[in-house]
Amino acid sequence: MDEFLPNPELEEKNKNSKIFICTQCGECCHIREKKDISEEEEKAYFSYMYNNFGIIYFAKLSDVTITIWPEEKEVLEKIAKEKGVNISFKSKRGYYDAEDKSLIIIDYYIDADICPFFNRKAKQCTIYENRPLICRSYPLLTTKTLGKCKYKKNDVNDYESEKIYAKKLDEKTYKIKKLLKEMISNKRILLDKKDLEDVRNIKELRI
Ligand code: SF4
Ligand code: SF4
Repeated sequence: MDEFLPNPELEEKNKNSKIFICTQCGECCHIREKKDISEEEEKAYFSYMYNNFGIIYFAKLSDVTITIWPEEKEVLEKIAKEKGVNISFKSKRGYYDAEDKSLIIIDYYIDADICPFFNRKAKQCTIYENRPLICRSYPLLTTKTLGKCKYKKNDVNDYESEKIYAKKLDEKTYKIKKLLKEMISNKRILLDKKDLEDVRNIKELRI
């Protein structure tokens, strides 16, 4: 059982610093959050995302882990191959494009309880320079909200280096939602699950 103990030196630095300094406790690299979500809540969430944005969830919320964008998946697969790391990605969300009858994958997740790139002994990310956007922005989740890191600062302005990546994440999410809204109003996403029986291609969204 992992205890998520911080590096004492970094913990001290973080305490005395105005900006956030990761203590390398490793908790956020244990990526399968066992979300305490009821079936009804999950159903309501899926239906909100579908009815407002046409977004289809391919996995249960209790199974999904960190968001990996298609371009990141490509890079991580290459690195995993080079390092001999066993990794499995699953599709997380997508939508149906009625114009060319395609199912478009928006993003993926790493199918593992603990990130395969996490060195458990050294408690370090082994792909630090190439870690995904979501890891770069954590514990900022967006430019306004924080993740559940125990060592977080409470003011989002204390995240000097994370903020730039959280901003990129926000921009990406905004662009995707805007695109989907436009597609819905142009009737390219028909919001009728029957259409999914007619999928001819599977593609990825790169935005
Ligand atoms: S961001 Fe927080 S939870 Fe993640 S390793 Fe650093 S201190 Fe731990
Ligand atoms: S990529 Fe690195 S920082 Fe991100 S979850 Fe994996 S080990 Fe942690």
